[in-house]
Amino acid sequence: MIQQTLSIIKPDATRRNIIGEILTQIEQSGLSVKALKMLHLTQEQAEGFYAEHQGKDFFAPLVAFMTSAPIVVAVLEGENAITHYRTLMGATDPEKREKGTIRDRFALSYRENSVHGSDSENSAKREIAYFFTPNEIVK
Ligand code: UDP
Repeated sequence: MIQQTLSIIKPDATRRNIIGEILTQIEQSGLSVKALKMLHLTQEQAEGFYAEHQGKDFFAPLVAFMTSAPIVVAVLEGENAITHYRTLMGATDPEKREKGTIRDRFALSYRENSVHGSDSENSAKREIAYFFTPNEIVK
C-alpha cells in the first residue's frame, strides 16, 4: 500500500547542518520526497502540532526545543511509508534505539532526537495538512 507520512527534521539537526545527511538516509531507504519546506515554528504552531501532549511534564520543554531553531518539514511517500519511516527513525526511548537508525546515528538526547514521523494514518493526514496545502504536494 502506497502511503504518505509527515517528517520533521528537528532543531538539533538543522543547527548541526545535517539536513542533507538525514534526507540522504531517507531517500536511500526508498522513500520519496513529495513536498519540502524550512520554517521556524512559532510557540502557537508548536503547541498546536503537539496538542496531544498538552498537560504532560515534557510539553513545555518540548515546545521550547521545537521553537529554538528552524525545522524542515517534508511529505514522504512510499510502500507502507508510515511504519517504514518510524522504523527508519528508531525508537523514542534511547535505550530501545536500533543500530543505524536516524535517531541512533544523530539524536542528542531523549528530547533532542533529530526527527519526527507520523505514527498512524490519522496523524499523517492531520500533520501533512498542518504544514502543506494540497497543491504544495507533487503528484
Ligand atoms: N519527548 C520528550 N520527553 C518525553 C517524551 C517525549 O522530550 O518524555 C519529546 C521527544 O522529542 C519526542 C516528542 O516529545 O520525539 C514526542 O513524543 P512522542 O512520544 O510522540 O514520540 P515520537 O512519536 O516522536 O517518537
